[in-house]
Amino acid sequence: MSGTVEASRRRTQHSANGKASEQEEQPAQWGRAWEVDWFSLISVIGLLCFAPFIVFYFVMACDQYQCSVSQPLLELFRGETTLLSIWARAPSFTWSAAKIYAIWVAFQVFLYMCVPDVTHKFIPGYVGGVQEGARTPAGLINKYEVNGLQCWLITHALWYANAQHFHWFSPTIAFDNWIPLMWCANILGYAVSSFAFIKAYLFPTNSEDCKFTGNVFYNYMMGIEFNPRVGKWFDFKLFFNGRPGIVAWTLINLSYMAKQQELYGHVTNSMILVNVLQAIYVLDFFWNEAWYLKTIDICHDHFGWYLGWGDCVWLPYLYTLQGLYLVYHPVQLSNGHALAVLLLGLVGYYIFRSTNHQKDLFRRTEGSCSIWGRKPAYIECAYRSADGGAHRSKLLTSGFWGLARHFNYTGDLMGSLAYCAACGFGHVLPYFYIVYMTILLVHRCVRDEHRCGSKYGKDWKRYTDAVPHRLIPGVF
Ligand code: NDP
Repeated sequence: MSGTVEASRRRTQHSANGKASEQEEQPAQWGRAWEVDWFSLISVIGLLCFAPFIVFYFVMACDQYQCSVSQPLLELFRGETTLLSIWARAPSFTWSAAKIYAIWVAFQVFLYMCVPDVTHKFIPGYVGGVQEGARTPAGLINKYEVNGLQCWLITHALWYANAQHFHWFSPTIAFDNWIPLMWCANILGYAVSSFAFIKAYLFPTNSEDCKFTGNVFYNYMMGIEFNPRVGKWFDFKLFFNGRPGIVAWTLINLSYMAKQQELYGHVTNSMILVNVLQAIYVLDFFWNEAWYLKTIDICHDHFGWYLGWGDCVWLPYLYTLQGLYLVYHPVQLSNGHALAVLLLGLVGYYIFRSTNHQKDLFRRTEGSCSIWGRKPAYIECAYRSADGGAHRSKLLTSGFWGLARHFNYTGDLMGSLAYCAACGFGHVLPYFYIVYMTILLVHRCVRDEHRCGSKYGKDWKRYTDAVPHRLIPGVF
């Protein structure tokens, strides 16, 4: 809290100098909330209590009920089963899964920390190696070793070499140990969130960027430290979001594909579509990892359970539900259906990538670029960091950013719908992803706009007047 007092003291001094503008009187409360309302608190406690069970429910539904989401509930309702018997039937923790998981995480830590990026030296256009993040609320600019693409390539090359030549482990290893691995992922997720929570009190990396709300649940869930690190380079946010979670995503999908081959002797076109569309998304993430340093996860979110547990458990388990479903239901799509899914996925990806690219290009060149063949239109903004420093920024209002304020989310949602539609219309489970992504991204819109409103004040209002819709032009 002392940071707030200090920042407002500095703002008052500016006013005393007679140089204050309306903008300077805006509180510089960017980053996550300082105060927690009742609704947020109840949501936080609800998520802390129920999110692990949501993940368990979906995975269990596939394991015990052929991916039917309603069947377990109906059986419970009719008294044909009990929670205890469902729990008893679920595979428990095993030491062999713990060994697999420990080797996996240790290998990713090794690649992240000990193999500096060389790919940027020979892949044209790829930005890797040491890169700078965005300015933190306290005014710092952190450096990151961007080597995610290299880690992804090495990991997948080894997976392929193992499947083709070495046979150290089965390509279906993730599927075969799926629930025992989930217990291990939960242990790591809770351990890392708890460590980050304690670290914020005892030895924060940068105390000026810590935020304490006075509510222990909110602090634990949404994080206190902004960029917790161990040593100079082990950045929690970059590692946990990218490595155990997103590198694993494509490997998990490959494991499902191998399982389909093992069980049915062939791989369905739906499984290939899910693998290809999600691999494009994952590769895009690593290709643009330097850009990712400027997104909300890294620039604005603090590191707590939401990111720590979310990256270890929620992401690898729920983002891969389509592939898991297709192991139990090997759907073969008609050519027309497959083509429609492919088109939806690729158009969604194109919008997602182009929109993100336009903002990145515009910000990197400070507006000296061309958007859709023209000079970009934008709104000049002023803001202050918590240390009282005055800064300027620009909000793009042309290209995709002139159609809606978050058209990148619209593209992302189209791609997400394509993954679900690849699974046909037999069950609702694969559609969980689009429901979740819609809630996540709409909530993100609201959260981001609240933050931007606090940061830019009246300039943000000018922007929302110029681009009135959030996701769908003319509608929302
Ligand atoms: P954005 O990349 O849209 O970043 C929002 C920030 O960009 C704002 O806080 C503001 O930051 C700046 N900004 C807003 N409007 C403008 C504008 N008109 N011109 C220039 N800068 C602007 O959001 P995210 O970081 O949430 O998302 C990045 C991508 O990642 C999206 O495509 C999203 O779909 C995807 N994503 C995917 C998730 C998944 O789980 N699959 C989860 C989250 C995101 P500033 O303070 O710098 O002005």
